[in-house]
Amino acid sequence: MSVFLKNEFAAGGSGDLAPLETWVELWVTNDSDYDQAMSIIENFQKSGDKADWLCQSCGEENSGSFKFCWNCQNTCPE
Ligand SMILES: [Zn+2]
Repeated sequence: MSVFLKNEFAAGGSGDLAPLETWVELWVTNDSDYDQAMSIIENFQKSGDKADWLCQSCGEENSGSFKFCWNCQNTCPE
């Protein structure tokens, strides 16, 4: 399988750049590798998904990408 990565060093810019711009891009050079590459990306995205969490202070539900409660700024209990 022949691939190359783009943006592999851009992840350090997360927070300053829009998250979509810092995602690693996986490029395949053979169409026959496309399905395998997509399954790799899907696995990667699943492992990167954080579950929604409930604030222990006020009980509000927060998106997994939030580190602080949107309602009361309590920190995520990770
Ligand atoms: Zn809260």
